[in-house]
Amino acid sequence: MCGIMGYLGERPAKDIIYTGLKRLEYRGYDSAGVAVLTKDVQTIKAVGDTSKLDLTKLPKSATIGIGHTRWATHGRPSAQNAHPHTYGDITLVHNGIIENYQDIKDSLKLSDLKSQTDSEVLAALINNNYQKGKISLIEALKRSLVEVSGTFGLVVMSPLESNQLLVARRGSPIVIGVGDIQNFVASDPSAIISHTDKVIYLEDDQIARVTRTSIEIFDLKLKHKNPNINRLSKSEAEATLGHYKTYLEKEIKEQPESLKNLMRGRVSQKGTVKLGGPNLDADDANNLEQILIIGCGTSYYAGLYAKYKLEEMLNMPVIVEHASEFRYRHGAYKSNSTLAIFISQSGETADVLASIQEAKRRHLKTMGIVNTIGSSVARAVEHGGIYLHAGQEVSVASTKAYSSMVSAILMFGAQLVYQRGGNSNITKEVAKELLMLPSEIKATFELHENIKKLTKQINHFEKWFYLGRNSLYPVALEGALKLTEVSYIHAQAFPTGEMKHGPISLVDNKHISILLLPEDETLYEKGISALEELIARGGTIFTISTRPKPKGSNYHLQVTYVGEYTEGLIYNICLQLLALEVATIRGVNIDRPRNLAKSVTVE
Ligand code: GLU
Repeated sequence: MCGIMGYLGERPAKDIIYTGLKRLEYRGYDSAGVAVLTKDVQTIKAVGDTSKLDLTKLPKSATIGIGHTRWATHGRPSAQNAHPHTYGDITLVHNGIIENYQDIKDSLKLSDLKSQTDSEVLAALINNNYQKGKISLIEALKRSLVEVSGTFGLVVMSPLESNQLLVARRGSPIVIGVGDIQNFVASDPSAIISHTDKVIYLEDDQIARVTRTSIEIFDLKLKHKNPNINRLSKSEAEATLGHYKTYLEKEIKEQPESLKNLMRGRVSQKGTVKLGGPNLDADDANNLEQILIIGCGTSYYAGLYAKYKLEEMLNMPVIVEHASEFRYRHGAYKSNSTLAIFISQSGETADVLASIQEAKRRHLKTMGIVNTIGSSVARAVEHGGIYLHAGQEVSVASTKAYSSMVSAILMFGAQLVYQRGGNSNITKEVAKELLMLPSEIKATFELHENIKKLTKQINHFEKWFYLGRNSLYPVALEGALKLTEVSYIHAQAFPTGEMKHGPISLVDNKHISILLLPEDETLYEKGISALEELIARGGTIFTISTRPKPKGSNYHLQVTYVGEYTEGLIYNICLQLLALEVATIRGVNIDRPRNLAKSVTVE
């Protein structure tokens, strides 16, 4: 993945590119670089985020240039491997992976590369076609792109044709910002919204030739395509910290508001749910036999929680798949009567996008749940979907998007029950619970101080188990992931009942179990048995429950019971705050944990 920014106009390119890259750092931040074009190309690079770049080394007079903030796939994070890469007459920035870079390297006998990246090999290939063929740059790019396999979002410039940027896309998002005697290129609109609200989303296997005053779109045969200009709203791209120290905390605390935004005009006090986005007609809804939910990481866990609830609500099998598995798996899904729901905060997750193509190939109905308006997932699905309206999520570890994803699927389930003529009490109950959720989450924030205190006492534990039964199991999975992401602790989640089938052998005095105890009487008792088993083996236990502290538990949080459909979201708030506090004590970069990136646009 990575962030790409390009500019050509009448202003100093380096400043515009730099501020654009700053907004894109959520996509990767292990190294960065900017190249500008005057008579020749001048480049600066640095390891780390964009603040490490020394912009004074670039001329103010340059009004065309490209920049990149990297998330390494090929070659470690280093100044040499940072983009832009120049080979011969070609300078480029690349997002994605050139899968056949080794073959290209061998066939061109490249022994003078300066980096270990696949991207520099692509620069060499374009250069080779350009010089060898004595053809235009766009023709050389076109010839090169048919030779590569893999994914790319690409911006190319050359001093030999210095009044243009060439842009191309396959699998990695690229948006072109339309200005007045200036144009922009970026990985997503947040980098350019302060300059223009008019954008063109490049489609896969399209090339764009961008000059200061024109934008032409072509397919891979260089046949002209009509550009489709979209309008952005300002709120789509703005995010500031306000009085918070981290985006993680800010976004956790924004959840009452983001959930209200999700429900506004969709869930009513009368107990109805009306979603305008999903377009399943009465026949589609009635003929559905199964639902497939596909996502990665936190989105996958949101889907897994929803599975437990949707199966009960709809009495229909709900299967949840990791996108990275689904795209290569031959699962037996019934064409036409299976609805595949794709969840992605960014709407640009490469594995999810590939899964949509796979689902279409198998004639499944496709629907999206995404936060980013106009994103690739939103445009690729055939049966519409639900926008989360959660606002920009900056923290790499997802929090507000998670609760909105869960709630959005519950809303969809409640509407589907109604559409299929099911039990109307279910729809009413889901609506009622959802509407109460913002204030219940707000009330749960009162536990924050207590969580802070408890964290000081348990922070030293090296091994963390998260245990939950039934729908609290996916909540445990998401809680463990959150802690892992932001504190670098190895945390693992298990269904409570699975503990004794293996993991319990790990229990010792370096170990703590976070045990989620449900409201349901029978399951609560089963949870208490697990607690006893852990105590008997000298384990330390932190319980979260709607009841007072059970005997034997070392640390405890009591939460409110909000109802059977949404209960997990309250436990989840506690686990988000716990992860935040552990990370704070450990002093890690909370919003940008090492090795991660917000939007995973590579496979
Ligand atoms: N594959 C390229 C590299 O490793 C691009 C990675 C990215 O998308 O940031 O440099």
